[in-house]
This record gives sequence, structure tokens and C-alpha cells, in this order.
Amino acid sequence: MADLVGAVDHGTTTTRFMVFDQGGRVVASAQVEHRQILPRPGWVEHDPAEIWDNTVLVIEKVMADTGLTWRDLAALGVANQRETTVVWNRRTGRPYGNAVVWQDTRTDALVSTIAADDRGRLVRHRSGLPPATYFSAGKLRWILDNVPGVREDAAKGDAVFGTLDTWLLWNLTGGVDGGVHVTDVTNASRTMLMDLETLDWDEELLAVFGVPRSMLPEIRSSSVASGYGRTTGTGPLQGPVPLTAVLGDQQAAMVGQLCLAPGDAKNTYGTGNFLLLNTGTSLVRSDNGLLTTVCYRFGDQPPVYALEGSIAVTGSAVQWLRDQMGIIRDTAEIEALAREVPDTGGVCFVPAFSGLFAPYWRADARGAVVGLTRFSDRRHLARAALEAICHQSRDVAEAMEKDSGVRLNILKVDGGVTANDLCMQIQADLLGVPVSRPVVAETTALGAAYAAGLAVGHWASTADLHDNWHEGRRWLPGCSEEHRAAARDEWHRAVARTLNWVEM
Ligand code: ADP
Repeated sequence: MADLVGAVDHGTTTTRFMVFDQGGRVVASAQVEHRQILPRPGWVEHDPAEIWDNTVLVIEKVMADTGLTWRDLAALGVANQRETTVVWNRRTGRPYGNAVVWQDTRTDALVSTIAADDRGRLVRHRSGLPPATYFSAGKLRWILDNVPGVREDAAKGDAVFGTLDTWLLWNLTGGVDGGVHVTDVTNASRTMLMDLETLDWDEELLAVFGVPRSMLPEIRSSSVASGYGRTTGTGPLQGPVPLTAVLGDQQAAMVGQLCLAPGDAKNTYGTGNFLLLNTGTSLVRSDNGLLTTVCYRFGDQPPVYALEGSIAVTGSAVQWLRDQMGIIRDTAEIEALAREVPDTGGVCFVPAFSGLFAPYWRADARGAVVGLTRFSDRRHLARAALEAICHQSRDVAEAMEKDSGVRLNILKVDGGVTANDLCMQIQADLLGVPVSRPVVAETTALGAAYAAGLAVGHWASTADLHDNWHEGRRWLPGCSEEHRAAARDEWHRAVARTLNWVEM
């Protein structure tokens, strides 16, 4: 009897496979980190073959450790890092090169040119996104222009595009032996090539970026019974499990956090931070630097939209302190180090490594550490990194309140950084509202599993899911209004110093 649901959660830093029971509890889990390939300043790449290998590895590990077989899984869902772009050959199965990651800024000149003229307005309106290096369209254009053979092979119908969901689905369903070439509405809404109203690829947007439609996958609902084919007997599950849900990771976390009603919001703290607000079936356009995006679409129901504030660098600033600066050996060490000092001693760290995303959208910004004195040391920098995570989230929360008129009275959180107690306390202090984390913090995988299980009737409706959400931890705001105001003022002065650093 298949009474479990599986989810592949491929994030920017790791790939996970998780199995959940009817109560949304974790039955088994395995996770592995992949390489961050940094060939030049501003460039960030991943190896698609490594990511597929890791996906096979984590699935096989969970199945071997638990003794489960494909027959135990009622359905399988996929959640993935969004926007990251891969082009591969559908005949050979081989990628044309590394995937260009969402944080990569190599397309800054291209998108700045588009942003500056009428095309910028068209892109903003049609796709709901400001022209930025973040989204897939510019990355795909860069690959077409710079990787030998891609344009020719695309004309022959052999070179195809996908975000990571599409790449993994194609491989899970057989690859060169009949793999499906599909994506879901949430992932498609991040390419900058989809019309938010029709939910289809848009000819004018394709023309702006010079992308041939023949390279693009078919767009489907996020949760649908016959949606994405089945796994194969030769794949890691060794049998046919229906693939019934696909969601971009942040949208999956919305489902996992049960932010299913208009006004519900969550903030995910991973490589970057992503604060999303469910706006129901109405498409709210932002005046304050937020994105309009598809939150999910279940079956034939109308799509549900969200406003999103995306922050490029939060948890990855902690990785940077570990890998590039060497001031910690393990990301978890940052908490103890930051606790050794009562404050940052005036140090302010703005990790604008990929420019600044929401609500600023400044491709010309670069990172800065300001306020250094002879007294400053690595403990102050560690604490400043945690404060930066929280200030950036507050910037986005303010923009969201202005756009939506919805006042946050609690913030639901999840993601790797929420293991950091000090960081969450700073967040509650800087926001002035409580911060709440559920028992199951892997909301991304859980959301993909929920969407997959709903499609096959494993859960009858979303009403069945609400009893599964339990608060695990809550942080209450502690600092004074004066302290908060002073900290915010210092942060904004530091942000101002990072702007106009790169000439466009
Ligand atoms: P993603 O889904 O983007 O890959 P995760 O939710 O797995 O991200 O979180 C990973 C991120 O969390 C990494 O950038 C890492 O630096 C950060 N991180 C993990 N543990 C901690 C911690 N204790 N304190 C601060 N940051 C942490």
C-alpha cells in the first residue's frame, strides 16, 4: 500500500530527497551539497551532471536506508532552485556547459540596456519582473550567443532549455529514452518569458531576448494527476512512481507553510532570502520593488499569485565567511562567534555580491564592509553578517506592506539559516513582530510532497493539511524602538555606499 509521498528538493546549495507520511512527518531524508563553481568575479555556475548524479544518490540512499521501494510511494513531487538555466542536447543527454545560476551577474549590461528603454516596461508588465540578471531569459540569451553550437542545434530542435526542474524531470522520466520536456507555471513565471495572465510563453518577450520558442518546455499546472510522467525502471526508484507536482522552491515553501489564503506570508532563509505574500487569484503589481509571481496552480483551478521580495545574498554570506574569508570552519559556528560580542561595534556589512535585489534592484551595487575601526575583528563581522540578513528582510517586509496594505503581525520562517537562534532573535528585534518556525522546517520538500499527494487524492483537499502545521519555535521582539530606528538608519547609510560601484 503506497501511503507515503516523496519529494526531491534541489536547492542552490544542496539536493535532498525526503519521504513524508500522511501527517506531513519526515519518514526519511538524505542530502548532499554540490559545488559552487566561481570562474570569474560575478559568475556562479553549477554542473548539471553533478546535480543529476546527486539526485540519484540521495534517492538511492533513502530507499536503501529505509528498505522502502517505489511501491511505497503514492506520488513524487519536485521543488527546485529557480531561474538557474541549463541547455542540453536532447539526443545525447549532455549539457552544453555548466548551468548559469540565478546569482550570476554576467548579463548585467544586457539587462540594464533592456531596463532603460520601452522593452523594460513591456517586460515588467508582461512578466511581472523587473529586467535583472536574476531571471533566466538573459542567461539563456548569453548561452545562445557564447556557447559554440547551441544556436545551430536549437534550430535543429536538439538543444533545449530548462530550469533545474525541467532538467531533473527529463532525467527522472528516462532522459534520451523518452524523457518529458516540461515545467510548471511557477518556474516558468521566473524565466521572464511567460505572460503572467495567459500563463504561456509570450512572443514579444521571446523577441526581446532573442530566444527561439522551440527550445522551451511545455508549461503545466504545479499539481496535476497526469502531469509529469512517471519515473522509470532504470532510474533510482527502479519503478514507475507518478510525478505529479513541480514547484519553484519558494512557492513550494508557501505550500509547505500552508500559506494558502490571501494575506498569508513566509520568509525562507537559505542561500538568499525570499519573502512571499499570497495575494489570491488577483495579480498585484508592485510599486515598491517587489516581483509579481505565480504562487501555485493546482489542477484546473485558477492560478494563485504572490508578491515576492527576493534577496540574493543571505545564507551565502555565511558560506562566504567560511569559504573565502576562512573566519569560520562550519556555517553553524557563526552563531557562537557572533555571540561573543554584544553588538557589531559599528561595523555594517552589505553583502551586495550580486548587486542588490529587492527592493532596490541595483545591478551596479557591490558588497561593502563599512564602519571598521582598529577595534573591529571577525566576531563583529560575523555579527554584522547576521544583522545584514535581518535588515534586508525588513527592507522587503516594508515594501510588501506598502504594496499590499497587509500589515504583518507575525512572520512564518523556514530554511537553513533559521537554525541560527541569534539570527532569528535579531530578526524579531528588527521587525518588531514575532517570528515563528514550524516543527518541520523543510517546508520546501514538504510543499512539493503536499502538492504531489493532493494531485493523486493522497490528501483529499488542502483542508486536510492544516492540522499538520505545528509551531516549533517562536522569537519575540525585545529591543527598544530607538535602538531599532538607529540600527535601521545605520543600515540604510551603508546600503547607499554600495550603489554605483560598477559602471554600467
Ligand atoms: P538552499 O535551499 O538555498 O540551498 P538551505 O535552506 O539549505 O538553502 O540553507 C543553506 C544556507 O543556510 C547556506 O547558505 C548556509 O550558509 C546557511 N546556514 C546553515 N546553517 C546556518 C547557521 N547555523 N547560521 C547561519 N547560516 C546558516
